[in-house]
Amino acid sequence: MTSTRRVGIVGAGPAGIMAALEAARLGAEVHLFDTNATVGRKILVTGNGRCNISNLGADPERYTCADPAFLETVLTLWGPDEVLARLEEHGVLTYATPDGWCYPLSDSAATVVDALAAALDVAGVAVHLQTKIADLEASAQGPTLYVGGPNDPRAMDRVVVATGGKAYPALGSRGEFLAVLERLGHSVRPVLPALAPITAEVGHLHTLQGVRLDVRLAIDVDGERRGETVGNLMFTGTGFSGPAAMDLSHLVSQHAGGSVTVSIDVLPHHRGRLWALLKAKRWEAVPLRILLGAALPAKIALLGVQMAGLPPDARMVDLDWAEIEAVMELLGRLTARATGTRGFQHSQLSTGGVPVTEVDPETMASRRVPGLHLAGEVLDVIAPCGGYNLQFAWASGALAGAGAAQG
Ligand SMILES: Cc1cc2nc3c(=O)[nH]c(=O)nc-3n(C[C@H](O)[C@H](O)[C@H](O)COP(=O)(O)OP(=O)(O)OC[C@H]3O[C@@H](n4cnc5c(N)ncnc54)[C@H](O)[C@@H]3O)c2cc1C
Repeated sequence: MTSTRRVGIVGAGPAGIMAALEAARLGAEVHLFDTNATVGRKILVTGNGRCNISNLGADPERYTCADPAFLETVLTLWGPDEVLARLEEHGVLTYATPDGWCYPLSDSAATVVDALAAALDVAGVAVHLQTKIADLEASAQGPTLYVGGPNDPRAMDRVVVATGGKAYPALGSRGEFLAVLERLGHSVRPVLPALAPITAEVGHLHTLQGVRLDVRLAIDVDGERRGETVGNLMFTGTGFSGPAAMDLSHLVSQHAGGSVTVSIDVLPHHRGRLWALLKAKRWEAVPLRILLGAALPAKIALLGVQMAGLPPDARMVDLDWAEIEAVMELLGRLTARATGTRGFQHSQLSTGGVPVTEVDPETMASRRVPGLHLAGEVLDVIAPCGGYNLQFAWASGALAGAGAAQG
């Protein structure tokens, strides 16, 4: 049945755009508001401009939220296949890398935004740009949005709030609307940087600045392991960047004030092969550092030898086996004290916001405020780098839009 509802959507990021398209598809009169001058402003910078649009392996275990069953429902209804098929209907063709990361065929985020802007136009969505929604009121007659200030009320039958979190505030999302949701009765978990570079007292690791490699990275708080991942890491002058560090950065944000340690094993994949090489060359006059270089960047090989207190060119034949073992052991646990993250300006996501237990997973309808639906990063859901966060934004947006039009 065609919807006759008037649906207001606050925020034209991926969640709000998808909500608008689904609501319009069901026949609703849709009004989409954003403070920015164009829709999908943040989409443009995703995936370094390539837009890592989804991930074929997006299952609930990849996500962190208050209720895994919530993600199970969302991803059953709108998994990567459904999202990619709908994006294709809107003119976005995609491909997946062998490890499941999905990108537009154009490898260009700009073409994704262009296609979605055109789809909004074709669907007849009224897009109100450079328009800030200052407030929202809920009543038995339906929610009212206030444009700019108290003097411009817009009555709606349903409202979708898709205002994002606080990451990358220059692109419009500053978390301001969370205060409105809190006043209306939602709880709001502290909003902190996630998917951000980690700052640390790098000490002797400063020589590794610019080095990039796959590692096993762990975060310990007050001596207790809180998270571990295997992925690509970049050593920087101020700490650590790259997916491995960013994927666990929320733990650093959440435990600021505690004693947070970053532990790095630089041989997550090739330790066995390196051991075999060292054994084969045990009595040769070759420097240990050169052999370590078979599996590691030269700077790390040198640091390992130096940290064990050995001369840089110490030769295999001159070393005790225990000294060789000590170097290999050190390379399995390079450590640095984390001091924080590089903050919202450098983060791709924020953790915190409204807990998912306060919305219905099938329609994203608020369990606290009648007529209200929530979608995207405004909800307290995080996932690692790899397209999982956009997948959640599209999926929750689609459910919220359909729920607002017909639920
Ligand atoms: C640099 C960077 C790279 C990223 N790369 C990837 C990637 O490759 N893959 C991936 O999966 N994820 C990526 N992400 C994360 C992804 O962009 C977010 O998960 C996603 O944008 C969240 O979508 P959203 O619609 O919930 O919020 P947003 O995209 O933040 O959109 C919210 C919108 O609401 C508007 N708004 C806020 N308040 C108001 C108001 N009061 N009135 C009107 N409008 C308002 C804002 O202007 C904004 O446009 C990246 C993020 C960044 C910053």
